[in-house]
Amino acid sequence: MTHPRAARVLIVLFDGLRPDLVTPDRMPVLSAFLGGTRRFTEASSVFPSLTRVCATTIATGQPPAVNGIIQNAFPDVSAREGTFLNTASAEDMRRAVAHHGAGFVATPRFADSLAAAGRRFALVHSGSAGGAYLLDPRARANGSAVMSLAGREASETPEVWDRVVARIGAPPAGADKVPLMEYAGRAMADVVLPEWQPDVAVLWLTEPDWSFHYSGMDTPATRAALRASDDAFARVLAAASAMPGAEEMAVIAMSDHGHVGTTESFDLLAELSVLGFEGVLDRPGADLSIGAGTMCWLWPAETDHARMGRLAAALQEKPWCGALLAQGGNGVEGPWPGTFDLALVNAEHGRSAPLLLGMRGGPDADRWGLAGNSPIVGKDLAPGGGMHGGLHRQEMANLIALRMPGVEAAEDVAPVGLIDIAPTLLYLLGVAPLAPLAGRSLLGDEAPRERRVLETGLGEYRQQIVLAGEGRGTVIRHGGRMG
Ligand SMILES: [Zn+2]
Repeated sequence: MTHPRAARVLIVLFDGLRPDLVTPDRMPVLSAFLGGTRRFTEASSVFPSLTRVCATTIATGQPPAVNGIIQNAFPDVSAREGTFLNTASAEDMRRAVAHHGAGFVATPRFADSLAAAGRRFALVHSGSAGGAYLLDPRARANGSAVMSLAGREASETPEVWDRVVARIGAPPAGADKVPLMEYAGRAMADVVLPEWQPDVAVLWLTEPDWSFHYSGMDTPATRAALRASDDAFARVLAAASAMPGAEEMAVIAMSDHGHVGTTESFDLLAELSVLGFEGVLDRPGADLSIGAGTMCWLWPAETDHARMGRLAAALQEKPWCGALLAQGGNGVEGPWPGTFDLALVNAEHGRSAPLLLGMRGGPDADRWGLAGNSPIVGKDLAPGGGMHGGLHRQEMANLIALRMPGVEAAEDVAPVGLIDIAPTLLYLLGVAPLAPLAGRSLLGDEAPRERRVLETGLGEYRQQIVLAGEGRGTVIRHGGRMG
């Protein structure tokens, strides 16, 4: 079968949007749009379901084990004294590339493949500067048009910033993201699309992620943010429909990950102290440097395999212990009984922690009546605020829907994931990837990935991971403690 072709591809990404929250009352334009799409109802994020990990996976078509961005923040020799390397910071990312070389992210981006084929990529990004950077670090060399609303100096192609600001003024300052969503939509619709005529355009809307975290999963402020993102989508759809080649355009509406409503703030440091470990959250130091959240990454100061193994065993006796993943096993089981190997979820890497601890969540409704809940470690969220990064299905489930002429509108239950975005847009445009991709096109004719359910545990403790497919192309659906 020949792959469907598109003249252009437009991607609008709603950061953190849970698919079940796309309702006509919250997001009327997106809801109506989905009715005309191939909607992938079993789509999944990548593990860990964190924004810059997702962005890099989208950009490269490869999972973290291959692309190397394994966490939003992690210990690294190039980090500033006393801090994790922060992928939200464009400055930190440039410092890391200067230190490690271009191989800091090991694989080419779809933007590099587009540039090699003489095609143009454009990005308007309203999240962190590092998030924009990771989508196309070589934007200048590629001839891309990249604007990070985080600032002119954060934009790899400041001439795009200058042009947009000359046309519609500077981005709104302040904590309220509603005007920022409106501005992001205008920058793409009124300036970048008509003036740069990109072959692939990505509008990255930082809402609803920010409001889910800091306002709550279903507050009036969060509903306003959802509506602002929906309005921006409407504006960009209208502008795209006026472009040459609009009748052969593919439009992808998607999110990078979901969110789970949090319950209690869990005092992991106190529990670890009882077990003889001194921890510190979200910075290097002490016995254990912990990347905190619903999934906690435990980096020990000293390599002591036996001591970490004792910790893994002790954690399994705790009722609050959820998923346990560890590095250096046989590809399925981790090196210590009861743990899964990080390689199973394509997150093993020199930068990864030797042991990851998920908080034990569940399917029961959160305080907003929305499905799913999880305790959280650290982070300064609103009470009951949403979080992501772990293996809860509400964190892993994301929106992926594609509309284009000739592609029938239907719900599609094939397991697909973020690793499939780069292959999809390259195949749609007939552009050869510069390096082999782990993912596959959403519109390919391969047999669906086969579902796999794996279990492990020790004594009373049992956990499972549900996957689809094999190897680097695996889609991770969800995981966690059983019972
Ligand atoms: Zn995100």
